Amino acid sequence: MPSDIWTRGALADVWEERANQERLRSEGRFTHTCADDGISDFERYAILAEEMGEVARACLENAELSNDVHGANLRKELVQVAAVAVAFIENIDKRTAEE
Ligand SMILES: [Mg+2]
Repeated sequence: MPSDIWTRGALADVWEERANQERLRSEGRFTHTCADDGISDFERYAILAEEMGEVARACLENAELSNDVHGANLRKELVQVAAVAVAFIENIDKRTAEE
């Protein structure tokens, strides 16, 4: 069981980002989070893949392998990937509980 300060810090940021997703949805920035019903698992996967693409972009920028620089922050993008994955898991768990 992880319990060190680094794990707690990472999970705290994922928790905060997960709450941020809900806020952005409520403000109309997007129609669904991956926790919501009304979209398919393929669409949830596309959302997750989009975030993973941003991780790839950050890696390329950090390695100075891209001249198409957007100032991507690797850690921030990884937190977003984790938060999207958590939302996806929440939806699966809700569906399972309703069975
Ligand atoms: Mg992102």
